[in-house]
Amino acid sequence: MNLSKSLVWFRRDLRAFDHAALHHALRCSQQVFCVFVYDTDILDGLPRDDRRLRFIHASLASLDEELRRLGGYLIVRHGSARDEVLALANELGVDAVHTCADYEPLAIARDTDVAQQLAAQGRAFHSYKDQVIFEKDEVLTLAGQPYSVFTPYKNAWLKRLAAHPETLAAYPIDAYAHAFAPPASAPALPALEDIGFESGEPPLPAGMEGAEALFEAFVEDIADYGRARDFPAEDGTSRLSTHLRFGTTSIRHLVRTARQLMLSGAGGTGASVWLSELIWRDFYAMVLSQNPHVVERSFKPAFDAVQWDIGPDADALFAAWCEGRTGYPLVDAAMVQLNTTGFMHNRLRMVTASFLTKDLGIDWRRGERYFALKLNDYELASNNGGWQWAASTGCDAQPWFRIFNPVTQSTRFDARGEFIRRYLPQLAKLDGKQVHAPWLVKPEVLAERGVVLGQDYPAPVVDHDAARRRTLERFAVVKKAV
Ligand code: FAD
Repeated sequence: MNLSKSLVWFRRDLRAFDHAALHHALRCSQQVFCVFVYDTDILDGLPRDDRRLRFIHASLASLDEELRRLGGYLIVRHGSARDEVLALANELGVDAVHTCADYEPLAIARDTDVAQQLAAQGRAFHSYKDQVIFEKDEVLTLAGQPYSVFTPYKNAWLKRLAAHPETLAAYPIDAYAHAFAPPASAPALPALEDIGFESGEPPLPAGMEGAEALFEAFVEDIADYGRARDFPAEDGTSRLSTHLRFGTTSIRHLVRTARQLMLSGAGGTGASVWLSELIWRDFYAMVLSQNPHVVERSFKPAFDAVQWDIGPDADALFAAWCEGRTGYPLVDAAMVQLNTTGFMHNRLRMVTASFLTKDLGIDWRRGERYFALKLNDYELASNNGGWQWAASTGCDAQPWFRIFNPVTQSTRFDARGEFIRRYLPQLAKLDGKQVHAPWLVKPEVLAERGVVLGQDYPAPVVDHDAARRRTLERFAVVKKAV
């Protein structure tokens, strides 16, 4: 390729290092412009105080600063991304638009449309792998089929990486920086208020430097990850999911480091456990790409026969779950964490999703949509995969007859009740054992600790054992199919 002018369209890849589309555009063009569009096709349904917009806004400022250091700049537009990109390509007179591939069905439809319209203007559209290590067709069974079980997928993934270590090579930017179009007439980046959102601090340190600071701190303790990652009161996970979602870090950089720590032994067992989690991310991206029906329906069609939301209380129970009023402290504390911070620990995502689907009998799609609205790190493939795992409808999911007991989960993973007390201060005076199931404590003892059940904290909205029996009955329709 030998292009005169190119436009790099940033979406979920807000960084200026190890960036596939930016690298290729700079290498093959004489002049490269960069754009990000606040896409009204996505933003229009979001609340005005959405935390993710604050993260994106701060990350764009950091991206623009880095592009300027390299000699370029970032153009930021607000409108329908399809229209804005086409209009800008026309205005600048570029030969091609370059992007990093996005595998969500709506993004694929948008990109196909943009590519066709660009072609009609005589311009090319190039999309590069960047967000995952291996795309949907790169790790297949010996029979050439996609995997539907994680462990053999992971083994094949690791084998392919060992055979092709160049997959992890970084895409250099600095060496080609002379091709950036200089920032002569660049307008300032718009404020969030300008596009109809409230400004404020991002929910976690944003941008490339925010990601790197988190990663460096995490690597210090990575050896203990295998143990610490299960305890929500501990700071035992990387918290990099939001950075991975918006591409302020590079998946190749993370995998490269985890693999080096694993192979050198410096990362203890934790490095290989963490690498497995990164492979789960590729796995769910592959599952979505190979099976786009999971967006609406169960991965396993037989599970579409399961009845959800039965009973007149379904809406009230769903509201209690959303608002952290189920009467099960670990579930409620987790929902308060989600509602107040936009983050929820992985163990608690499993517990709350299991509780909604198996204890309350609510359709997993309602919970999935609620998480999509609230999670800072929301991304379709992992969220859908996690929900279908918990609801037992998914690919390599929790067996349907295995139902988390929310009290046992609480005593195992928050034994001293530290996490619960952090998010439910009304239970702060209950001791270690009492805090997991306040309804089992004598009312006079509760009163001494300042808790009146039904007033300061709700009584359980369901009885777990009865709910468990009902769920096993509801799932009986799939017994023959699995
Ligand atoms: P770490 O433990 O440090 O893991 C490192 C990275 O590995 C994560 O940042 C993430 O990219 C990836 N990862 C870890 N666990 C998983 C997993 N089970 N599936 C896929 N990738 C994983 N993750 C999202 O990024 N976005 C979501 O919308 C999302 N929704 C979920 C919904 C449910 C019901 C469940 C059970 C899990 C969901 N997860 C989701 C996966 C997981 O909970 C988060 O990735 C993790 O909690 C993020 O914290 P961390 O970055 O500290 O993770």
